[in-house]
Amino acid sequence: MSTLRGGCRCGSIRYECLAEPSAISLCYCRDCQKASGGPFCNYAVVPAEAVRVTVGQTRSYCVQAASGSAVKREFCAECGSPLFASNGHVFVLAVGCLDEARTLAPTIAIWLDSAQPWAPVPANVECFAENPPLTLGGD
Ligand SMILES: [Zn+2]
Ligand SMILES: [Zn+2]
Repeated sequence: MSTLRGGCRCGSIRYECLAEPSAISLCYCRDCQKASGGPFCNYAVVPAEAVRVTVGQTRSYCVQAASGSAVKREFCAECGSPLFASNGHVFVLAVGCLDEARTLAPTIAIWLDSAQPWAPVPANVECFAENPPLTLGGD
């Protein structure tokens, strides 16, 4: 498979991921709404150990997710682009910051119980009211 590469808006941070995503999620939880400024966050679920920051250094903050677990969100301190999120067992890359975002169509929609009533949900994704089974990711 090909290496996934990505970076923030301003170019201060670049990274690569050597593993294929196990899922591409749209998360509609309130925390993701605030983190994105939109109706959902769009993430690629990958093994944390497959990801390597090649340029720059992320900043991070921690929040308590709707599920109760602590979520660490990493971003670029210069331009604010959201880059990664993790909760100890699941690690995700923000799809919009990946160079190949075009090829990464969503496969699951999660936390739909928290979705705004007008939020769009793509056809042909697997839907979950809250978190999916652990291996699929989410908060
Ligand atoms: Zn940046
Ligand atoms: Zn979320």
